[in-house]
Amino acid sequence: MDAKAAVVREEGGSFEIEDVQLEDPRPDEVLVRVVGAGVCHTDMTVRDQLYPTPLPVVLGHEGSGVVEAVGENVTRVEPGDNVVMSFDYDGTCEQCRDGHPAYCESFFEHNFGGSRPADESSPISQDGESISGRFFGQSSFATHAIATERNVVPVGDDVPLELLGPLGCGVQTGAGGVINTLDPQAGSSIAVFGAGSVGLSAVMAADVKGCTDIVAVDLQEGRLDKALELGATDVVNPDDVDDVVEALDDLVGGVDYALETSGVAAVAEQATDALGQRGTLGIVGAPAMGTEASYDVNDHILTGRNIVGVAEGDSDPQQFIPDLIDLYRRGKFPFDELVTYYDFEEIEQAVADSESGETIKPVLRVSEA
Ligand SMILES: [Zn+2]
Ligand SMILES: [Zn+2]
Repeated sequence: MDAKAAVVREEGGSFEIEDVQLEDPRPDEVLVRVVGAGVCHTDMTVRDQLYPTPLPVVLGHEGSGVVEAVGENVTRVEPGDNVVMSFDYDGTCEQCRDGHPAYCESFFEHNFGGSRPADESSPISQDGESISGRFFGQSSFATHAIATERNVVPVGDDVPLELLGPLGCGVQTGAGGVINTLDPQAGSSIAVFGAGSVGLSAVMAADVKGCTDIVAVDLQEGRLDKALELGATDVVNPDDVDDVVEALDDLVGGVDYALETSGVAAVAEQATDALGQRGTLGIVGAPAMGTEASYDVNDHILTGRNIVGVAEGDSDPQQFIPDLIDLYRRGKFPFDELVTYYDFEEIEQAVADSESGETIKPVLRVSEA
C-alpha cells in the first residue's frame, strides 16, 4: 500500500516526508494506522548514526494507532483495536522467557536492525528501493506502520489515543526505572538526575511509590518547576550550587535511590557519590558508545552501594503499559503534562524543540483517532 513516511537519508540529515510503499503484514505482523508518534532522543541518536541502523531509514518508536489489518497467525489484536507500539523482542530467549524482554538477547537486531531479523527484509520501500523499517518493530514516523503481534499493546478507548505513544519508550523507561528496577520503599528518598521526559516520568513514579523525599536535578528552571508540579519535593540546579552532591546531602542526606537520565558520564559519577549507605543507582541515560565512568572502589565497598543499568524500564510492555494507563486514569500519573503536540508535517520543528529543551515530549499528530 502507499503511505507517507518521514525518511532520513544521510547522517545528521533532516526528516523529509516522502511517499513510500508498505508490504502487506506477514503472518505474525500487524498493520497500524498511526495516530500519534512521540519523538525520543534515540531517534536523533540513529539520525546521527551513533547507532548503526542502515540509511535511508524511517524512524519513530513511540507510536499509537488503530489496527487496520493483521496477519493470519495474529490473535492478540484485530482490525479496529487501539494499540500502543513498544519495543520488539524475540520472545524466545532466556531473558524473554523470564519476563524481561527489555534485556532480550537479540534486542539490537529487533530494534535497531532496520529490517525483519528473520530474513533482513524491510516492509518499507520506495519505487523498488528498500528503506530501513521495523525500527523498534514499528518505524512510526509514518501514516502507517508494520509492527509485530509481540510489540502492539491493546489499550482502551476511554483515554486519548494520540497521547499514548510515549508510553512505548520514554515514559515507560523513566517510570519503569523506578517502579520495576529500583522498587523503592515507601518513605525512602530518591534523586532524579535530568528532568526531561524520562526523568519527570521517574519523578511521578517515585510519588506513586510513596517516596517522601524526591529531588530533581536539572540545569533548566522550567523543567525543575515542572518537577515540583509533578511530585518532586525539592530541586537542585547545578548552576546555583557549588557542589551538587553536597547540596543533596544538605537537603536529604545520602539518598536511598538515584536515577541517572542525562546520559552524561560525569553526572553518573555525581549520582553515585550522592548515594547513602546501601543506596542504589539506576543508569538510564545513554552516552555515546564506549563511554566509561569511574567510582571509588573503597567507597563502594564501605557503603554497600549498588549500580544497575536500566533499559526500557525493565518493562514487559503488555503488562506495564496498561498499568501506567490505569494510574493515568486515576490521576496519579499525569504524563500528559509532558506532551506538546505538533502536526506530522512539523516533524523538523518537533525535533528541534526536543533538542533545545523547549519541549519536554513532542508528539506528532499523524491522523485522527
Ligand atoms: Zn529475547
Ligand atoms: Zn526511545
